[in-house]
Amino acid sequence: MQTSKALVNGLAFDAVERGIDYLNSLSERRVFPSPKDIEKLKRFDEPLPEEPSDPMDVLQMLDEVGSQGTVASAGGRYFGFVVGGSLPAAYAANILAAAWDQNAGLFALSPATSVLEEVTTSWLLELLGLPPGAGIGFVSGATMANFTCLAAARHALLEKTGWDVEAKGLFGAPSIDVIVGEEVHVSLLKALSMLGMGRERVKRVPVDDQGRMRADALPEISGPAIVCIQSGNVNSGAFDPAQEICEQAHQSGGWVHVDGAFGLWALVSHELAHLTRGIDQADSWATDAHKWLNVPYDSGLAIVREPLNIRAAMTTDAAYLIKQGQREPDEFTPEMSRRARGIEIWAALKSLGRSGLADLVERCCRYARRFAGGLSEAGFDILNEVDLNQVLVSFGDDEMTKKVIAAIQEEGTCWCGGTFWHGRAAMRISVSSWATTGEDVERCLESMIRLAKKVKRSA
Ligand SMILES: *Cc1c(COP(=O)(O)O)cnc(C)c1O
Repeated sequence: MQTSKALVNGLAFDAVERGIDYLNSLSERRVFPSPKDIEKLKRFDEPLPEEPSDPMDVLQMLDEVGSQGTVASAGGRYFGFVVGGSLPAAYAANILAAAWDQNAGLFALSPATSVLEEVTTSWLLELLGLPPGAGIGFVSGATMANFTCLAAARHALLEKTGWDVEAKGLFGAPSIDVIVGEEVHVSLLKALSMLGMGRERVKRVPVDDQGRMRADALPEISGPAIVCIQSGNVNSGAFDPAQEICEQAHQSGGWVHVDGAFGLWALVSHELAHLTRGIDQADSWATDAHKWLNVPYDSGLAIVREPLNIRAAMTTDAAYLIKQGQREPDEFTPEMSRRARGIEIWAALKSLGRSGLADLVERCCRYARRFAGGLSEAGFDILNEVDLNQVLVSFGDDEMTKKVIAAIQEEGTCWCGGTFWHGRAAMRISVSSWATTGEDVERCLESMIRLAKKVKRSA
């Protein structure tokens, strides 16, 4: 086996260099791979190698076959879903972290990552204006963050009735009402299903024209109940009225959980304070760091006001209450062994600072308004109130809109996906990357308008 220092050096430098070349290619390449590049991926489909290969050759093949088959979401012209990019400091920290290869499960496995999680926890809470004593689990994304927070809620509500859900499970337990908005994200329903709380037994609250839960339509709460609100609708970007809902739910002992996968980051901006009013009154918050904080995949945060509740739901050791001193990261997450996600979050926050993060969020919102303004001037319908980073645009009837989306995706100047909003086909533009520049926005806007007009003319 060749493990000489020279080989390791050569390989690591080669990987970094290939990564740099890839990143430098993003400003010119098409955003979604061409059919030819996707076809080329078939070269991966070879028989299981019986013999070892030179790692340099392995990396070369990965780059030559794989790189062109990726989606250029790390660049500035990707507006599909809400994907974010990877900040320079977070990307660089990720490279160092790969060398560290730490198991973040326990302090004994990695003091450095345990301390970084602890520091990052207090920075995040201060930055977001959430209760300073809250607990944070560093999970893989908002789906797992929703799962973890709802497990904490389930624990807290049933403990009040004298039922130990971790020990006894849900069979025979007092029931918990789960209240969601009509526009609830599917990942929250998935979390409920995994927790044995069922995706169909939820009570759905009607929403207004932007998809906001109507506080006046919240059902009467009696007995254990979780109200799941959303900060940042995946289509419109709208926020449920947190203040009113928290007040009502708390009067009857309900737990309020916030799915703020991307929208929670609006808390860092004074300009967006009108959207986020009352969010800090909730009991738990799920968010993604890999979306708007722009750290590499995968990275989400499960934040729980009373840390004992998340620890009770997640800990493997009944003696957790008497553990003192250093943070044991696995007391906050479903996983035991896992990636040290706190490293890149720390690097992102350290490099941006409070003002840099506010600037990132506000810049994305400004670009979203520019897209909406430009498309509207060109005669196309903007279907949502563009309060955040989301724009929904219709190019005419449903068929026309779908054709325009296909043309935009095919040209490859940018990539936007389709959706349905109030029964109408729409194209969805999500601006969420530090890498997007004003020039990118103008270039993509030009492409969208030119292609939409062309499709219209040929109709
Ligand atoms: C993206 C998103 C999720 C799911 O997040 P993952 O990181 O993909 O698990 C949940 N809720 C909302 C509102 C989202 O935008």
